[in-house]
Amino acid sequence: MNGKLAALLRDFAAIQRSKQKMWGYKRAASAIMALEEPIESFLQPDGTLRKIPNIGPSSSRVIQEVLQTGSSPTIERALAGSGQTGDVERRGDPAGHFLSRAQVLAALRNAKLTGPRLEDYHGDLQMHSTWSDGSQTLEEIIEAGIARGYSFSAVTDHSYGLPVAGGVSMAELTRQHEGIDRLNETHRGTFRLIKGIEANIRKDGSVDMEPGELGRLELVVAAPHSALRIAGDQTARMVAAVTTRGVHILGHPRGRKYGSRPGVAADWEQVFKAARRANVAIEIDGDPSRQDIDYDLARRAVQAGCLFALDSDAHSTGELRYAETAIAHARLAGVPTERIVNCWPLDRLLAWLASRSG
Ligand SMILES: [Zn+2]
Repeated sequence: MNGKLAALLRDFAAIQRSKQKMWGYKRAASAIMALEEPIESFLQPDGTLRKIPNIGPSSSRVIQEVLQTGSSPTIERALAGSGQTGDVERRGDPAGHFLSRAQVLAALRNAKLTGPRLEDYHGDLQMHSTWSDGSQTLEEIIEAGIARGYSFSAVTDHSYGLPVAGGVSMAELTRQHEGIDRLNETHRGTFRLIKGIEANIRKDGSVDMEPGELGRLELVVAAPHSALRIAGDQTARMVAAVTTRGVHILGHPRGRKYGSRPGVAADWEQVFKAARRANVAIEIDGDPSRQDIDYDLARRAVQAGCLFALDSDAHSTGELRYAETAIAHARLAGVPTERIVNCWPLDRLLAWLASRSG
């Protein structure tokens, strides 16, 4: 119900003429997706809704309507009157398999599911620091990782090819690596910070760094950040990316965004087979607005024999819990734990990284 209501509120947001109302309904949709409990549990005996942060009175009325009657005549009337029903249906992503936070927690608790448990997860392999567009320092990443029971994490700031995301220059990377070496010395035996990068996959499938530069990193996540609204097939682009020497993980493979764009269209079977042959891991990105790939597509990657990386894509320490979204999708897909690189012991992980380095 949380997911259904959030989708309804997003549809409603899309047809608002006032920017303020649009943001209000969008904020309410995100707040519902982030609830840890089913929305029904917020209903009071008198039929009204308990106060939820970021959900205003008009969103509350819509929610009450849906909980009481199963639908929202208010939204249906507004959609019909807007003449945009078709647009909204196209924008809506009924097969997106986005999980609400409540569904994530339910999947983590569900003992009938196979796949990784929270305690099998030893470290997060995609996140951003103050060196690019993140707000967490390297020290904070280590402390927060230790607090979550991790034994490693990778810092994967954006590459210099992505200046809009504060991409790091090679000179900055050299200084960052000196800092990482010092921190690893301090935390030796307890925690290992891995020197990574998130490189951009260009439209032609090439990665926006030179081969020699990729070789200076321990971990390369290659991910699409441009040409994401092209309707045509992009199989060749994604196959080229996963067969690039030095790439370890195909990050958020589709580049989709909740309520905004479905991302890259490709023959994923072919991409997964190429990744399997190249020994490249397919990422399940746990950012709630990405959830890329989702459990449905992940089942096909399991069948293709792929390795997996389950990552938070966190930009702050508070977002490290997004890894749980990725773990939930892996559980729903039945990804075998031994195929998840985050669940390997550190020495096995480092050996795999070294074997693929450029
Ligand atoms: Zn990215």
